[in-house]
Amino acid sequence: MVTSKKKRERPAPRYLVTTIPKVSRCIKCRRVMLSAYVFGDRITIDPQPVNLRAEAMALIMGIGTYEMSLIGKPYPRHRNKFDIRDGLPSYGRVHPQHCCGMQWTDPQYRDSRKIFDYDKNAPCPF
Ligand SMILES: [Zn+2]
Repeated sequence: MVTSKKKRERPAPRYLVTTIPKVSRCIKCRRVMLSAYVFGDRITIDPQPVNLRAEAMALIMGIGTYEMSLIGKPYPRHRNKFDIRDGLPSYGRVHPQHCCGMQWTDPQYRDSRKIFDYDKNAPCPF
């Protein structure tokens, strides 16, 4: 008698786990931050989206930046040199890694783009 082997669902290995960020507080400075796993590494990012000036400042300070999409599930993704060279993502926001004592709430660092930028007076496309 031949029994067919059923493929067993295996969970993803721990080093591949990427999770959606959850709101938490920093132990040291008690500020609100987002914490998640990106490919198994625990990251903490500031919830305030930043612009290119702030991203450049963060990179000079040695702080990494992460990109979260506005479409679909907001999985954070580390921004590499190619992402940084291409500028801000069209449908995503850039968040710096949490650094105690550093505030990105200044208007010159804030990403002030609208979520879906469209022209209200544009003619109907169809
Ligand atoms: Zn902190």
